[in-house]
Amino acid sequence: MSKKPTPAGDKKRGELWALPRISRLRWPLVKRMFSLSRDMIVAIQAAEDNSQPSACFKPTSEAIPDMVVRLPEVCICCGGFQFESTGVLWPELIAAWELTEDEARYIDLQQGFHCTDCSSNLRTMALAHAILRIFDGAAPLSSFVHTEAFRKLRVLEINEAFTLTKFLAESPNHHVARYPDVDMTSLPFEAGRFDLVCHSDTLEHVSNPVQALSECRRVLCPKGALAYTVPIVVGRLTRSRVELALAPSYHGGPNEEASDLLVHTEYGADAWRHMSDAGFSDCRIIPFAPPAAFALVGCP
Ligand SMILES: [Zn+2]
Repeated sequence: MSKKPTPAGDKKRGELWALPRISRLRWPLVKRMFSLSRDMIVAIQAAEDNSQPSACFKPTSEAIPDMVVRLPEVCICCGGFQFESTGVLWPELIAAWELTEDEARYIDLQQGFHCTDCSSNLRTMALAHAILRIFDGAAPLSSFVHTEAFRKLRVLEINEAFTLTKFLAESPNHHVARYPDVDMTSLPFEAGRFDLVCHSDTLEHVSNPVQALSECRRVLCPKGALAYTVPIVVGRLTRSRVELALAPSYHGGPNEEASDLLVHTEYGADAWRHMSDAGFSDCRIIPFAPPAAFALVGCP
């Protein structure tokens, strides 16, 4: 087991976000989800022409007019129908991330809107939704994991995917690889071992995300799939805080500075590019409650 100090996330993170309660959730609507503005396309072209990474420019978020987040009425993880919303962001993080007011609102939903029965939040529901889509399973996930189709799957979780672990562990072939015992950029598994690899809000904390995704691809069987979440700000492009030499920014809580909470990458509308760079032949973005929650799916 590798002891390399590459951060691979911290499962306490989802539990540590804590802020005020949000009531009904209607905000200005995303006019063009995941479409790049002309300026952004020009910026990408310029970056590629100069052999510079796309993260070399400062984010210029598009306005989000009339955003409405369509929140679930039934929990796709457990079938529950009671929800609460707890704010998770704090002013210093919003400032470091350079989030607009609308972006802060939907990131708050992504992490803080949750089922009171199983505690799954929107991002874990998005991941559950993606897993059901990949394997053509019927919701909720808590039922699908008892089917023969799921139980024969070989499942790798890289760190616990927040609340999904208790569901995914129904597979007799379920395995959890945790940081720091396992380095995500050098997985200690033979090629083609798993049918499903998943992780949730981990990749943004890894210093070499493309290598980490390459490893996920390597350990998948040819018909397997990777499903994961990262926080995505949909109106801008991905940037590397490290490459831009920005001040350290941490997720988790206002006073937490653990190395595995350090943010290396802030993902934007081009979050799929790291999957493409890692060699995945099929890169999908699956919306759950856009723009608050998406899952990414890659097929080797
Ligand atoms: Zn639930």
